[in-house]
Amino acid sequence: MRRTLSILLISTIAAPALFGHGNDSHFPRAQDVTVRTTKVNGNVYMLQGRGGNIGAVVGPEGILIVDDDYRDVAPKLAAALKGLGSDKPRFVLNTHWHGDHTQGNETFGKDSTIVAHVNVRKRLLDPPVVFGRSTPPYPSFALPIVTYSESMSIHLNGEEIRLVHYPNGHTDGDSIVYFTKANVVHFGDTFFVDRFPFVDIDSGGSVQGLINNIGALIPKVAPDAKIIPGHGPVSTHADLKNYHALLVESVKIVTDAMKARKSLEDIQKAGLPEKFKEAGSGFIKTDQWIATIHRSYSIK
Ligand SMILES: [Zn+2]
Repeated sequence: MRRTLSILLISTIAAPALFGHGNDSHFPRAQDVTVRTTKVNGNVYMLQGRGGNIGAVVGPEGILIVDDDYRDVAPKLAAALKGLGSDKPRFVLNTHWHGDHTQGNETFGKDSTIVAHVNVRKRLLDPPVVFGRSTPPYPSFALPIVTYSESMSIHLNGEEIRLVHYPNGHTDGDSIVYFTKANVVHFGDTFFVDRFPFVDIDSGGSVQGLINNIGALIPKVAPDAKIIPGHGPVSTHADLKNYHALLVESVKIVTDAMKARKSLEDIQKAGLPEKFKEAGSGFIKTDQWIATIHRSYSIK
């Protein structure tokens, strides 16, 4: 009973920021959002509004974007894309189904071909209840009309844009997107940069799966690649390795305590060592991260 109560409390705290992945206290309104454009490498850019980071490859053959922010930010994103050549991308790729990465599909879906892993389409047709929050199904024009299972490539502007699926990590429909010529990789929410991750267990996510996926990606990503994370600044291979260590170490502390038959409440009370303080200051606080690990490793 006490455990149920504590999960409910955590859910209530987390719910308003669920798809914001940001701090509630300064979660800006759409009219206050400025979409910032950063050149990453070659003809690949990163755009940042209020939701997930957007990747874009631009050139004479048109624009391809990775993720498209919230519904109410999408018009500002379109205006920023116009500055790069066109407000009507030929392709929109969704790294996973969460609204802060896909709601803009409603704006772009009428003109663009939306591409995603097959589970993203499934989730958008029948969104799971996450943290007690429900999402209505997306209209057909806002759904991915091209889906893939393991990997696929799109060739545009002399760039090979390669999507590779990694199973059951942040969700069950995660794509890593490689801009192979520009040596840029968009990680979606598989990578949060120095902060504890949001693992969406209700959408098929798994803490061990996320660790496995990042571990598998470390040798695959070039040491000098530029990494666009789901949220936060452009990052490096070293940042990715640090992130993997952060997850492995914090998870070991919690799973060791679980093996010692400590309750979730006791593990939360004991907390994590001081060096994880900064990691617990983002969207996912230390207590929530401990609860997520506890839940994920309790699933048989
Ligand atoms: Zn997400």
